[in-house]
Amino acid sequence: MKDSYRHKGLRSQLIKVLREKGIKDEKLLEAMGLIPRHLFLDNAFEEWAYRDVAFPIGSEQTISQPYTVAFQTQLLEIKGGMKILEIGTGSGYQACVLAELKAKVYSIERQQSLFIKTSKLLPEIGYNSIRTLFGDGYLGAPKFAPFDRIIITASCPEIPTALKEQLAIGGKLVAPLGSQQKQTMVLLTRLSEQEYDLEPFGKFAFVPFLKGVVKVD
Ligand code: SAH
Repeated sequence: MKDSYRHKGLRSQLIKVLREKGIKDEKLLEAMGLIPRHLFLDNAFEEWAYRDVAFPIGSEQTISQPYTVAFQTQLLEIKGGMKILEIGTGSGYQACVLAELKAKVYSIERQQSLFIKTSKLLPEIGYNSIRTLFGDGYLGAPKFAPFDRIIITASCPEIPTALKEQLAIGGKLVAPLGSQQKQTMVLLTRLSEQEYDLEPFGKFAFVPFLKGVVKVD
């Protein structure tokens, strides 16, 4: 499957929709305008790739809605060269948005089948620099810490301590915080060794942040 002029056209429509919904970060919109989102879905669902909706990607998981990806990313105020940890690789789309913003991306997935599929896809579509990891996101990636930014793309009842500790001082973490049904997007800023600031944003609905890993037989 290739990226065609038709896909590019659909993509610019999507960017227009995101702008109308209030996404203002021009660099982010430009980055999302470059990523062939249809390559993250099975061929049969190609038509859905440029609608502003979440979509199933197998293993009971979803590729987040473009607006949600944009909203979380915008809150992080990413600058080139920043080291970012993503929890919940899923399709890999969000990781590519971060990579397009010239960040150094580490992304963890707990489902081995998805981890294998996405780790293969990313270099095939030109994203060679993203480091995918198989493991439990509750533990973060201590080997590569501290991170300038952390993004949790599954709903969490609380922000795991390990992730707060792996945030650089001055660093920011974005997460959908709340019950499995409904969450509030929060932005956590690490002010010092011990102090954190928490700001709430709008309501969202994500798939759950689950403990442990699921291995392929
Ligand atoms: N960022 C993804 C959306 C992922 S949906 C994208 O752009 O497509 C949430 C993902 O988080 C799912 O793939 C799910 O398996 C994963 N997940 C849930 N709990 C996790 C955990 N503890 N560690 C790592 N990944 C987790």
